[in-house]
Amino acid sequence: MEEIRSLKVINQFGMHARAASQIVGLAGKYKAKLFFKKDTRWVDGSSILSILSLACPKGSEIEARIVGKDVKGFMDELEGLFKGKFGETAVGHYRPKKRIMKGFPVSPGIIIGKAHNLNRSKTQIFHTKLINRKEVDTEIDRFRQAVDMAKEQIQKFKSNMPEQVKGYALVLDTHSMILHDSLLFDPTLKRIKNEKINAGWALEKTVNKIHQLFKKVEDDYIGRRMDDVDSVCERVLRNLAGVQADSLAEIKEEVIIVAHSLSPCDIVEINVSYVIGILTDVGSQTSHMAIMSEALEIPVVVGLESATDMILDGDLLIVDGNTGEVIINPDPDTIVSYEDRKKRYNRYKSAIDRVRHLPAETVDGYKIKIKANIELLAEAKAAIESGAEGIGLYRTEYLYMIRRDFPDEKALFDDYSQIARMVAPNPVTIRTLDIASGKMESDMEAAREANPALGLRSIRFCLNERKVFKTQLRAILRASVYGNFRLMFPMISGLGQFLEAKRILKSVMRSLDRDGIKYDRDMPIGILIEIPSATSIADILAKHADFFSIGTNDLIQYALAIDRDNEHVAHLYEPFHPAVLRMIHQVVDAGNKEGIEVSLCGEMAGDPLSILILLSLELKEFSMNIGSIPLIKKMIRMLPLGELRDGFTGILQLSTSKKVEDFVLRKAKSLLPDIFDEDVFRYRSHGTT
Ligand code: PEP
Ligand code: MG
Repeated sequence: MEEIRSLKVINQFGMHARAASQIVGLAGKYKAKLFFKKDTRWVDGSSILSILSLACPKGSEIEARIVGKDVKGFMDELEGLFKGKFGETAVGHYRPKKRIMKGFPVSPGIIIGKAHNLNRSKTQIFHTKLINRKEVDTEIDRFRQAVDMAKEQIQKFKSNMPEQVKGYALVLDTHSMILHDSLLFDPTLKRIKNEKINAGWALEKTVNKIHQLFKKVEDDYIGRRMDDVDSVCERVLRNLAGVQADSLAEIKEEVIIVAHSLSPCDIVEINVSYVIGILTDVGSQTSHMAIMSEALEIPVVVGLESATDMILDGDLLIVDGNTGEVIINPDPDTIVSYEDRKKRYNRYKSAIDRVRHLPAETVDGYKIKIKANIELLAEAKAAIESGAEGIGLYRTEYLYMIRRDFPDEKALFDDYSQIARMVAPNPVTIRTLDIASGKMESDMEAAREANPALGLRSIRFCLNERKVFKTQLRAILRASVYGNFRLMFPMISGLGQFLEAKRILKSVMRSLDRDGIKYDRDMPIGILIEIPSATSIADILAKHADFFSIGTNDLIQYALAIDRDNEHVAHLYEPFHPAVLRMIHQVVDAGNKEGIEVSLCGEMAGDPLSILILLSLELKEFSMNIGSIPLIKKMIRMLPLGELRDGFTGILQLSTSKKVEDFVLRKAKSLLPDIFDEDVFRYRSHGTT
């Protein structure tokens, strides 16, 4: 059976996302097929995107055709929707106007889909004064119970973790630890007792105090652990209020989650068969949630600030996890262009994924080594799966950040021996602690330095705090027998410092010998070159080191006097500054003359434009963030390195970053047109002067 009718769009906002979703919802109820025709074009009436692609503003006339069972009833209902203006006047407030938001991209990919706004407004906190002892005791019990409950909930999540995020169990352990942290648990109990206030209020005050404390901490990484504290406290507050959170496990249709924040526990509940993307108001690229969600391999954008206010349940969204852009209620043209972008991105992704396990060998036979930078043991698996030939930089700060005191040798040994085993026979370059001095003091405020980047940090801190340093070295040495370790000291500014660090290492070796404990006696000892003074004397240092790794993140900061965490000078942070390129060249040259390996592990290694310069400067080994590996490998496998080097002679003579950038981009487009003509990935801009 068939029914055809002309319908007129009379609602003010036209046939946009909300109207289209009502039509699709209606079509789902009938065993009949719906088509729309505008001008000469027919589209499928059961697809939101097809309906939107018709672009029907108010006043449009379209033809509806229904084929199948009960076509009359279906058509009547459909006509009712049009005549009833899709409920627009009754609702009166939907905003099909296109809006664009920008956040921090965490996990790449492009998706188009429906929003599911996780309505998790923060638990309301009541402020009640307690009158007598009995009430105080009751509140203390309630608080203890809420904390115990939170602990059980976290344990439950841990035992049900999906395969993709299993490696992150440690994050949930951190949450359990925060619950009983001495900054949180005892002070809250004390507040209930001494200030005679209810548990929620007391907890709120405690968390505010922790916020104040962390605000003073210059170290970005520690500062961002506040996300974890907040998420743990919200759980306790919900338990106190007896409120259940809107659970992600219950989602059974394909949606993009929009939430103020998500905790690691939320991430482990997510079913990727239904959840196709995640957007959050808060969070940074290094929050736990961000790191974990990357493992789910769905597009994720965090730090959108007001996504939960701007986006309504059911809004149509385009999420670009490569750029951090989110488009709310896109117009049909935008949808069509993103559909195309999505196809190109997926094609590009599968093309680079296909080669990620092949060697990084240029078309003219040069072998390049590509390794991964990681911060957590849990990332090692993903690194190897992305095609890394080892870990070129294991930043070992994490175990020190998640607790107030210092981790003992056993905790460190457990972590290091696991990573050694996981990555063997490939090597792991393990960097000793690169931490600021604030960690040592019980009151972080007191230990604050005016210029932490120039302060008592990293190797300087370790040489000062011998006990902490030796404990780490002992754990590294003990773990070295389980794999293939290389040890690297960060922030070395002069030879004396390096020799001192080596002397301490030797003394730890002797103590292991005395205890009859085995370790790898031939473990290579290298320097992370990241201070200009070290580049100047690279020839001297090379005589004493087994390898160099160039840390451009800090090298640029110190060479150009640009605080890498200060957004006011971010535009002056220029990786292509001629001085930076010359420094890199000097280090490579010194290493080559002495016959030691030189690699580069700063962010530059993972940038498609930078890598061309670095390859031209004769670097053969790189370590980068996991996400960059497949593309960089693909580029290298397409590259005629000899031709690149010939074409790049003279790059060190260019006078400004801008000239370098223009030069490299021109060369890149002619050497690798397939890569650089596609605009599906973005390379960083490298300065304007
Ligand atoms: C660097 O400084 O380039 C580096 C690799 O270390 P981090 O980013 O950890 O300072
Ligand atoms: Mg550094």
